Amino acid sequence: MMHKPMVNALTIDVEDYFQVSAFAPHIARSSWDSRECRVERNMARILDMLAANNTKATFFTLGWIAERYPQVVRRIVADGHELASHGYGHERVSDLAEAAFLDDITRSKAILEDLGGAPVLGYRAPSFSIGETNLWAFDCLLKAGYRYSSSIYPIRHDHYGMPDAPRHVHEVRPGLLEIPITTIRMFNRNFPSSGGGYFRLFPYALSRWMLGHVNASDGQSGIFYFHPWEIDADQPRVAGISSKTRFRHYVNIGRMEQRLTQLLQDFDWDRMDRIFLPARASAPARSASLALA
Ligand SMILES: [Zn+2]
Repeated sequence: MMHKPMVNALTIDVEDYFQVSAFAPHIARSSWDSRECRVERNMARILDMLAANNTKATFFTLGWIAERYPQVVRRIVADGHELASHGYGHERVSDLAEAAFLDDITRSKAILEDLGGAPVLGYRAPSFSIGETNLWAFDCLLKAGYRYSSSIYPIRHDHYGMPDAPRHVHEVRPGLLEIPITTIRMFNRNFPSSGGGYFRLFPYALSRWMLGHVNASDGQSGIFYFHPWEIDADQPRVAGISSKTRFRHYVNIGRMEQRLTQLLQDFDWDRMDRIFLPARASAPARSASLALA
């Protein structure tokens, strides 16, 4: 008998190339408004690609982007995808005090719900910046009305990571799930296997094997993530960055779109809320209050 294939979660962090944390020392926040924005055209390509593959995804969207491109937010919802929050202006949680973080996630949720007309239940921290030192962030997320976070990367990395965190979905507070970025466990440590720069760096066959391994060996859905700027080979190049940052940002960008198309065909995908919040995803009370607003 055929087994029903496991469904994985496809996620996109909606931000532009100049908002990437690794560029922060080189690109002043005050210059964002004068930069050439590429996110609108890149999002159109992504949404077209998903429509052509009949695939639904979750879009963790910056409030800053939503305010400037409300039509992008409306199309995310109109196309049947899940709208979720990536905070307002891509400030790492590790750089914020508790009150400032609560303000950031409350404000971004309200902006997205206003523009999208859909409840926002999910949050992903910029640069996976929730870890051992700021677990109070979960209390804030609960207080702001979120139902899940996908903010912990259980690996060792120079910019982020919580290597000893649980590798799969777990309840971090009553009513709040953490859905970590997918890793595979080998040689007694965790390896990244779920997108971003690693997906561009590794041969596609290795990425496909790792996701299949998580599905088959762990019996768990994988969480895959990428960014609109990762399919944009023509984005303006940022000057003055280190060779490591340059490599991580630009490696194999020209191959990304074709690899993504292959990935969409090789696995089954869906929105985070439909995979992890069964029967609760519609949040009727919140929807009703939005409908009345
Ligand atoms: Zn981000």
